[in-house]
Formats: sequence, structure tokens, C-alpha cells
Amino acid sequence: MTITPEREAELLASVPTGLLINGQWRDASDGGTFDVHDPATGKVLATLASATSEDALAALDAADAAQAEWALTPARTRSDILRRAFDLINERAEDFALLMTLEMGKPLPEARGEVAYGNEFMRWFSEEAVRDYGRYLTTPEGKNKILVQHKPVGPCLLITPWNFPLAMATRKVGPAIAAGCTMVLKPAKLTPLTSQLFAATLLEAGLPAGVLNVVAGKSASAISGPVMADSRLRKVSFTGSTPVGQRLLKDAADNVLRTSMELGGNAPFIVFEDADLDKAVEGAMAAKMRNMGEACTAANRFLVQDTVADEFTEKFAAAMKALRPGRGTEDSSTVGPLIESSARDDVHALVSDAVAAGAVAITGGEPLAGDGYFYAPTVLGNVPNDAQILSEEIFGPVAPVTTFATEEEAIRLANASEYGLASYLYTADYNRMFRVAEQIEFGMVGFNAGVISNAAAPFGGVKQSGMGREGGSEGIAEYSTVQYIGIGDP
Ligand code: NAD
Repeated sequence: MTITPEREAELLASVPTGLLINGQWRDASDGGTFDVHDPATGKVLATLASATSEDALAALDAADAAQAEWALTPARTRSDILRRAFDLINERAEDFALLMTLEMGKPLPEARGEVAYGNEFMRWFSEEAVRDYGRYLTTPEGKNKILVQHKPVGPCLLITPWNFPLAMATRKVGPAIAAGCTMVLKPAKLTPLTSQLFAATLLEAGLPAGVLNVVAGKSASAISGPVMADSRLRKVSFTGSTPVGQRLLKDAADNVLRTSMELGGNAPFIVFEDADLDKAVEGAMAAKMRNMGEACTAANRFLVQDTVADEFTEKFAAAMKALRPGRGTEDSSTVGPLIESSARDDVHALVSDAVAAGAVAITGGEPLAGDGYFYAPTVLGNVPNDAQILSEEIFGPVAPVTTFATEEEAIRLANASEYGLASYLYTADYNRMFRVAEQIEFGMVGFNAGVISNAAAPFGGVKQSGMGREGGSEGIAEYSTVQYIGIGDP
């Protein structure tokens, strides 16, 4: 279906442009604004209110004021609100998808995929809300009883990145609502429009005023700083880069805040000689090219057994070469632009460094001319193991391929990273799958699977990829605190 300029304008006009504080959309306290751009054209899409520190604290005031009543709201009521929001988002799936394509750049089919995936967190946590069990038991010594119950942790600051504008918000807001927490959500300034529409949808679903407050703005630290310094805040959940996460962890120490940190990744994609190579290429395309490579789960290091490396690389390069870069709204586009000019420069610097160190660009290797921040889908062969591109998050459509000879070497190379988020493993041997999974230091392993994110699964990492899990039954625990009541001998 062709997306007309009128359709785009109508959708953009329906997105609230203010700050959401205590159920009201308002201007910034100093009247400040910032622009949101289309990365495929560089044009301004919308102008939003830019929250000041004062606005951020007003959002926390509202969250704090709403917390006590929200905590006592029956789980069934919270569950019903989540379910209504799920239904409304489904009804507006095309609006959410187009909005993400406009502000983030991903092709529409991918944006539709994110709506389906992201919205599942609303449904999953509507189901979890009423099944958040405690426990009751007799002490080992007998007679006395132990009663364990979960309570909401309290007002939370939720900070999201730009790359998955809906899913990163639902992964936090869904479980926070299920657990009974109130929230201050700070979306990324590059892609805040989806969060604005999401918040409006939640209000329509019946979320009481003050439970979710949304403060987008030019200065992230002007928003997070005063909120995190305020002892009424009880938790910060952050998804973003490791350096910002490290800084927030330090800030969180002052008030001993609960923290969830979903940080960067540097996923290995390991292909053994017994793997089905066509399936491995299909998985490689999904793991590398989802979101133009701008994903924390993106395969960053292709480790291929030397006996099949040439065949795999040739097939993989052919598939990458067949991609058609273009604005995400065009039916013909299969890969969108990078988020901004500096992001493209960073990707190209890593490619140039690798080529200077001896890597060969089998396909791509250059920025694409014209409007927007497009980069050619790239496969690099002969990448030396000490190349910078293997140790840093690429965040772009570039696949460096290196080889290994033995299983031990593959494990050693995979673990040679400070990150430990997603990993991928292609082999026909289930025994090997268990052996390798046991030894690799990653929070998630895709076994013959290039996409592993699922609302029912605990998403998260180890090492410098962070702590805490989003999704699954683990997801709600991040927003709950445990209270134990010791019951004496009756
Ligand atoms: P980023 O760290 O630059 O920004 C993330 C968020 O933090 C944004 O909302 C930003 O405004 C805010 N922020 C930036 N500086 C801040 C500060 N000083 N104080 C408070 N907030 C601040 O990351 P990004 O570029 O938006 O996203 C890309 C990064 O996110 C990558 O490293 C990627 O791997 C990571 N990521 C991780 C996951 C995961 O689940 N582990 C998911 C998606 C993205």
C-alpha cells in the first residue's frame, strides 16, 4: 500500500506533542521544544515539548502521588488495562508501524513486526499480573509460618533507547503496570513519537492519571539527574549503551536504587561445519540485518569453521548484496537508513579501520550517496581477530567474518568480549549445543535461530551487557519487592 504524504501528515498530527504529567499533556515549564527528524530524508517530522529538570520533578511528584492507590488497585484491574491497551495497539498497528518507520527509519514490514513483538509484552504482562504468586510455608523447625508476598517497588524511572521505539517501552511499562508501580518514562530524543502515541493509548485504555508520566527532552541528564537524586524514586530501568548505564549505576548508588540495566552487546554468530548453511545464512541475515544492524542483539562477529567459511561467506554476501536500501515507507525497500549522520560515520570508521588492518570488503563497505543516512550492506572477509570492529558494537549493516578451526577456539573467540548479551550457534549437533551453551558467557543463545526475542523469554545479559531480565516470569520480578511476614506459634 502506498503511503501518501497526507497519510503521514494526518498520523503525525494525531501524536500528542506535550509532556504527559499527571494525566495532562502540557508544555515545558520554560516553553522549550525540540525537533524529531526522518532519518531517510533529514526532514523535521514533529516538534515536541522539551522537559526541563522542573518538569521531570513534576512528573515524579505525579508518580509519587499516584503510587499508594495504584499499589492497592486489584491485579485484575491492572491486568484489564494492559489487555485493553494490547487490543487498542492492535487496532492501531498500522499507525504505530508507520510512526516508527518515519522516526526511526526501519522498513514498514519490520516496523509491523516490532508492533507485534512489542505489544506482546502488554498481553504477556496482563496475564502475569494476576499470577504473581507469593508463598506460605512452615519453618523447618515447625510451628512458625513464613508468609512471602510481592509488593510494587514504587515509582520507577524508565529510560529507553531510540532503536526499538515501541518494544523498549512496552518491555518496561508492561511489567511495571502489572507489578503496580508508577512511572516516569524518558524516551530517546531521536524517536520519542511512538512513546507519545503509546502513552495516549494507555490513557484511553483506562490507566489512571499519574501512573505513567512521559518526559521527552533535549537533555537526558537534566531529566534523569534530579529524578534519580530524589529519594522518592525507587528504581531505574535503563536500556541503552554501556557507558551511560555505568554512569547511571553510579548515580543510583546514592539512593541505593533498584536497577535494571539492558546495555550493549557484541553477539557472536558461530557456524559449525555440520550446520545447514542455507539456514545459517537465513539466520545470519535476520540476526545481522534486523533493524539495519542497529540492535543490541545484532550479530557482530561471524565466527565460521574454516572448512565451510568460503561457502558460507559467498552465500551470505549474495544475500546482503540483494538487499534494497530505501525509505522504509517504500514497498521496494528492504533496508532503511541509519539513525543519524554521526552513526553512519561511526560505522564507516570501523569498516575503514578493518580494511586498513587487512580485511576485504566482499560486498559494500561504503556510505550510500543521496539523502538520508544509508550505508551499503557489507560483508567483510579476512578480518583479523584484533580488529577494532570485532570488539566494538557496530550498530550498522556490516558483517565481519572470521574463522576458527575447533570448538574450543570458537568458544574462546566468542567469549573474548566484555559484552555478554545475545549469541547465536548453528550446528546440527544437539550435544554440541549444550556443551557450547554451557561454556559461553552470554545471557541468551539462539540455537539454529537468528531471532530470539520473545515476550515469554527472559531477555538480558551478563558482563558489561548489564543485569536484570525483561520478559518472561522474570520480568515482573524486576518491579517487585519481596516482603516476608514471620508468623509466630498460634
Ligand atoms: P544511549 O545510551 O545513548 O541512550 C539510551 C537512553 O539513555 C536515551 O533515552 C538517552 O537519551 C538516555 N541518556 C543518554 N545519556 C544519558 C545520561 N547521561 N543520563 C541519563 N540518560 C541518558 O543509547 P542509544 O544510542 O539510544 O541506544 C543504543 C544502545 O542501546 C546500544 O548500545 C544498544 O546495544 C543498547 N540497547 C540495548 C538493549 C538491551 O536490551 N540490552 C536494547 C536496545 C538497545
